[in-house]
Amino acid sequence: MSTIAGQRFARLTAVEFSHRAPGGVFWKCVCDCGGMAITTEAKLRSGHTKSCGCYKRERTIEMVKRRARMWAVNEGSLTKQDIERLFIVDIDRGALFHRNSRGGSRAGARAGYIARHGYRTISINGKRFLEHRLVWFFLKGEWPAEIDHIDRDRQNNAPANLRVATRSQNNGNHPCRCDSQTGVKGVSPVYKGRTFAARIRKDGGSRLIGCFPTIQEAKAAYDAEARRLFGEFARSA
Ligand SMILES: [Zn+2]
Repeated sequence: MSTIAGQRFARLTAVEFSHRAPGGVFWKCVCDCGGMAITTEAKLRSGHTKSCGCYKRERTIEMVKRRARMWAVNEGSLTKQDIERLFIVDIDRGALFHRNSRGGSRAGARAGYIARHGYRTISINGKRFLEHRLVWFFLKGEWPAEIDHIDRDRQNNAPANLRVATRSQNNGNHPCRCDSQTGVKGVSPVYKGRTFAARIRKDGGSRLIGCFPTIQEAKAAYDAEARRLFGEFARSA
């Protein structure tokens, strides 16, 4: 069997052979972000598996941002009076009801539908709006940047359940600091301590230096890389 240990595929670096299965030869890999993955050599080589999952997560965040910009385009033209004219707003519940019967909608019926993304969506003059954003705008008089459902229930649009999301909350699922398990800066155990990954942070990102059989060797590699990158300002613990 040929070895791909040490080889890099997108964000993943193969560390060691894991097992053989009908799906192919599986390799344990470390990700640039600090995560781990077990995947087949074929998927690594084809580019099917690019990361521990962080790549997909980042893409999702991008998609959410793009979608938010799309909502913003519709929102620019809507006023509170428009909402009041068309809907009765139950502000405590965070729910909109049709004021009049029109088209397929009956007076008093809950407005909108649950779209595939899980949020209640309401069409006004052929444009789509998110109910929770309408509720926020109705209450506060301005459109929020990005809103979070506190209890994670996308249909619970009560104002008490809504808050403006901050950047750190969006990054909340980022893997924990990689050195927390060894106590050595930049060094984290891989596969229950059978090898140790040395990683260095620079410009907000984390780059894998390599994997080493002992903490000491990983620390030495980290220190050398830190000196190279940061010179006399390098700090290790
Ligand atoms: Zn990752």
